Amino acid sequence: MSALQPIRGTRDLIGEDQRRYRYIVETARRIGETYGFEEWTTPIFEDTRVFSRSLGETSDVVTKEMYTFTDRSGESLTLRPEGTAGVVRALVSNGLTQALPQKVFYAGPMFRYERPQKGRFRQFHQIGVELLGAPEPLADAEVIACGWDILKSLEVAEQTVLELNTLGDKESRNAYRSALVDYFSAYAHELSQESQMRLARNPLRILDSKSEQDRKLIAGAPIIFGYLTREAAAFYDAVRNYLVKFGVPFRENPRIVRGLDYYDHTAFEFTTESLGAQGTVMAGGRYNGLVEEIGGPAIPGVGWAAGIERLSMLLKTVPPPTPPVAVVPVGEKAEVETAALSLLQELRHGGIRAEIAYRGNLKRRMERANKIGARAAIIIGEEELARGVVQLKDLASGSQQEVPMAELLGRLA
Ligand code: ATP
Ligand code: MG
Repeated sequence: MSALQPIRGTRDLIGEDQRRYRYIVETARRIGETYGFEEWTTPIFEDTRVFSRSLGETSDVVTKEMYTFTDRSGESLTLRPEGTAGVVRALVSNGLTQALPQKVFYAGPMFRYERPQKGRFRQFHQIGVELLGAPEPLADAEVIACGWDILKSLEVAEQTVLELNTLGDKESRNAYRSALVDYFSAYAHELSQESQMRLARNPLRILDSKSEQDRKLIAGAPIIFGYLTREAAAFYDAVRNYLVKFGVPFRENPRIVRGLDYYDHTAFEFTTESLGAQGTVMAGGRYNGLVEEIGGPAIPGVGWAAGIERLSMLLKTVPPPTPPVAVVPVGEKAEVETAALSLLQELRHGGIRAEIAYRGNLKRRMERANKIGARAAIIIGEEELARGVVQLKDLASGSQQEVPMAELLGRLA
């Protein structure tokens, strides 16, 4: 029988890959906490409408990337393609709309049916934050500053640039949308087929197109700044000023629009040139209409998500696993084995990573200790047992000394 293979676009996290994953999540969680973000875990699958309503029926994700299936009771379910919609659904279903603001951190797998390539998978993982219930521009800046601090802690910040834009409020966007329709209609036949459809349904989305053909036309398209209402322009000004106060460097890029429908005002991406085509590492913005979209009250939100796989590729090193100590009983005596096992547990309960070979003579067990990269061997035989000591052998230097059992934990900690 042929061995079964993993599904295309999925991968196993083992060894260094898993350590990188964990280091990213733990770092982000720790920094997020200093900003007051508390972790939520929402289900990996939801009612399909949680996503179709919030991401927009015409978004790339909803039209072609969702893993949607009917379960045994005939309900349409979808594996979450992103984290925000589920968090917002949870805010409403848990009755937290009266306890605002809520500052949420999350981490976990997301699923999109995309063509797998470097930095692009079908099951990938994100960390993210959402700040719900704060309409002030300071909230946008705080969310971005938190992301920046996480990138700095991971020591990848210097490989990224924060690209900042505003999508304005409804009025600004309506004016801008007509300007885009006017502009692109003149070139309609030169647009990619997909963007021709976008022109009719959602012209802003053309700006997010990855097609070469479209990119050329996009370069000459009007930018939103000329269409902002006074309020929207003032909001954007305030966000920029706060970013300066927080010391977060940014570059304005009027082409940043984000791929999902729910954004307004602030839109941003931390991008890198180190990853080829998949250059967006962390992305987000403000979404004042989203909570209503999924049937809740009008509650503003702002947040971002970052791809863990892409962060992982930027990471230089992660702390190596702590090397164990190896407990090595000598001889066949039952008392020696009993003493070795209780020593083993005492070390583990004292927080020391400790291992014992399951069998073999002294030589085999010492070989095993070296093989697992142990930093020290704790050798105990009949004679040591009688005197209440062990031989502590440093496996890097080879030096050995006798240590009273009672002092061992202190010595190794
Ligand atoms: P892209 O333009 O690369 O398709 P996106 O706009 O679809 O990204 P978002 O929905 O904003 O991405 O998701 C936030 C982040 O999640 C991205 O910046 C990226 O780091 C990561 N991400 C998105 N899709 C994938 C994927 N298929 N594989 C790996 N990471 C992904
Ligand atoms: Mg995408």
